[in-house]
Amino acid sequence: MPEIFGEHVDRLVTIEMKRPGIPSRGVILPLYEAARRVQKRPLTLLAAEKLKENVTLGQYVLIATGSGKAPWRPAGETDGPLGAVSLARAIKLGLGGRPCYVAGKPYMPPVAAASDAAGITATYLREMADYDGFYPTALMRNFPLGHERALDKALELLDELKPAAVISIESLGPNAQGVIHSMTGYEREAEHVALTYHLVEQARKRGIFTLGIGDYGNEVGFGLVAEELKKAMPGWAACKCPCGGSPLCEVTTDVVAAGAVSNWVGYGISACLAYLCQDINLLQDEETERRMGVDCVYAGAEGEGGMKQPWVDGTRPQVQEAIITMLRMLVENAVQQALERGW
Ligand SMILES: [Zn+2]
Repeated sequence: MPEIFGEHVDRLVTIEMKRPGIPSRGVILPLYEAARRVQKRPLTLLAAEKLKENVTLGQYVLIATGSGKAPWRPAGETDGPLGAVSLARAIKLGLGGRPCYVAGKPYMPPVAAASDAAGITATYLREMADYDGFYPTALMRNFPLGHERALDKALELLDELKPAAVISIESLGPNAQGVIHSMTGYEREAEHVALTYHLVEQARKRGIFTLGIGDYGNEVGFGLVAEELKKAMPGWAACKCPCGGSPLCEVTTDVVAAGAVSNWVGYGISACLAYLCQDINLLQDEETERRMGVDCVYAGAEGEGGMKQPWVDGTRPQVQEAIITMLRMLVENAVQQALERGW
């Protein structure tokens, strides 16, 4: 039963470990439950099923991630890139799709470094990404920061790559007033943000499958569950800027998946793809996860306390590996044949 498997993957990736005082503490369960009531199926499983349904051999899948703000996080943070890389790896190795990372130029190096560490060579060269020989590759496309060229770039990328799916992981998007907020409730000025929500909106107009992943609700995709969330948590979060709204993103995706850490949701979806394809290797192992984290911060991502250490959202590197260990155990046991002992 895929539902039993998916249910427990969802439970694992929604365990909250945040410290008191962090604004998103206490949010994940109501957010998850609202998303679950709207979508009526384990979220990681639903996302994996839709990816498997929509992505066929040789088709591109755009994966937008990376948010930061100079001078504090000039190359972004660890949450987002690692989940994006896990998904790219599973899509490449499991579905034969061609992942393409989309990020603002300052936020791309940690994504590329983590991808290389995961065995998926990141390249800007289309001919290398199109080549189905020796190298498993992922294409990279930089996205301009700010409003000015965002829509044009979104249309250009969709025209160039004709993707089968667009994934947005831990990418900030605008609220009902058109203002983008960080988790703290303050405005994140557009000049720091790759407004990749245009990719999602334009992809939906073309009938392309879209998937949003986040851990708070200010990320692209949560428009799908906004009404349900407002009912469940009327005081969810007031913003601290003059817009008079909340940080809740109103941009909708076809499927939106929530977890305690966005990376873990990505890992959960990779685990579900591993289950659906009956191949444990689609989910990175602990050693690969460790190298992904280290290389991601060496390339500039901020991990914890403003330092380049492979923590993610206030959780130790060992916890990232532990999540992988448990997800792999879930997959390994779920794909076993039942014991036949005659009783
Ligand atoms: Zn505001």
